[in-house]
Order: sequence, then C-alpha cells, then structure tokens
Amino acid sequence: MIIIEKALVTCDCGKHFKVREIKKRRMGVHQGQKVRAHFFVCPDCRKKHPFLWENDDIRKLRQKNKQHQDKMGEYIRAKQIGKAEHEKWQFEQGMTKARGIKGELKERFPFP
Ligand SMILES: [Zn+2]
Repeated sequence: MIIIEKALVTCDCGKHFKVREIKKRRMGVHQGQKVRAHFFVCPDCRKKHPFLWENDDIRKLRQKNKQHQDKMGEYIRAKQIGKAEHEKWQFEQGMTKARGIKGELKERFPFP
C-alpha cells in the first residue's frame, strides 16, 4: 500500500503540502462489493487528489500479503531460504493481482 500520510506532495497549482487527512468516498458497487476511493485535498486550491481505489478483495489481498511478508521474515531469520522465496513469490502474485483490480476499479469508477 502507498504510504502517503505525512508525505510531502505537490499539487498542480504548485503548492507543496503535507497530507494531514485522508478522505474516503463511496464510488459505487462492483460485483457485489462496495468500491471506495481514498483522496486528499489541496489546502490552497481545494483540488481533490485520489490515490487509491479499494474493495473487499483489495483489503483481503492486503491482509494476506502482510502475512506473506511476516512469514518471509520468519523464514529468513530461520535461514529457510526456499520457504522464504516461496512466500516472496506468493507476495508478488498478490501484489500483481491487487494492482490489476485497482486499475480496473479506477477505470470503472473515475473520480469526479
Ligand atoms: Zn492545489
């Protein structure tokens, strides 16, 4: 996931600012799942900057990927490199899948 909180961003209007608040907006329903977009607002020109679309599948994938990362760390510490590499592979599969879903949601539910 993108860690955008507390990051310094630049708006199209040229304003540099720190993101203090992430807002969420309901975008609709796709395949029985609610779709939300996360965005932040420029304090100067009030432009909305969306940066993340998510649904239940995305949230589940994020949880699973966190588990794969944790296990990978455990296997590395235990010097079980084969198992660690397998977790890494699963993590990468999950990331690719999540990226695909996010792209689809973004296309289907363009931010107004
Ligand atoms: Zn701005």
